[in-house]
Amino acid sequence: MFGRGLVKGLQVTWREFWTKKFTVQYPDERHPVPERFHGRFVLDGDKCIGCNLCANACPNKVISIGSEKVEKKKFVTSYVINIQYCLFCGLCVESCNKGALKFSNDFSMSQYFYNDLPLVLLDREAPKVLPTAEGTESKASADATGKNKVTKKSKADEEAAAAKAKGTEG
Ligand code: SF4
Ligand code: SF4
Repeated sequence: MFGRGLVKGLQVTWREFWTKKFTVQYPDERHPVPERFHGRFVLDGDKCIGCNLCANACPNKVISIGSEKVEKKKFVTSYVINIQYCLFCGLCVESCNKGALKFSNDFSMSQYFYNDLPLVLLDREAPKVLPTAEGTESKASADATGKNKVTKKSKADEEAAAAKAKGTEG
C-alpha cells in the first residue's frame, strides 16, 4: 500500500510538472485584477461634501469624517477609514451619490506598525474663504467691464485730442 501511494504521488507530481504554471514572480509580476475589484479606497476631496452618507451606511462604523464651517458651507478636512475593521462590502461606495469615494485595484495595504493601518484619505486645513466659481466669474466679468470702460474712455480721449488738433490746424 505504501509503495503504491508513493508511485501515485510521483505520477501526480510528474504530470503537474509539465502543466501550464499560474504562479508569477510577485511583487515584480502581478496578475491583472478585475475592474470591479475592491482594493484600496480613493477619495476625491473636491467632490466630497461631508454628508456622512457613507459613514452611516457602514455596518462596522469604521469611517470618520472631519469638517469645518467656512462661509456657512461645510468643508471636509479629514477622511479616515479604519481599514483593519473594513469588510470591503462596498456599501459606503454605493451610498456616495457624489462619486467621491471609490475602490481602486491596489490590494497591497499591509503596514509594518498597527498604528499606521487606518487609511487617511484626506487631511487638510480649511481655507479662510471658499474659492467659488461664482466669485471668480463675477470678478472676471467685473474685470471685463472695467476693461471695456477703459477702452471706451481712451477712445473718447483720442477723439477729443483729434478734434483739438484739427481746431488748432484750422
Ligand atoms: S466597505 Fe463596508 S465595512 Fe468597509 S468602510 Fe465601506 S461600508 Fe464600511
Ligand atoms: S464620500 Fe460621498 S457619501 Fe461620504 S461624505 Fe463624501 S460625499 Fe458624502
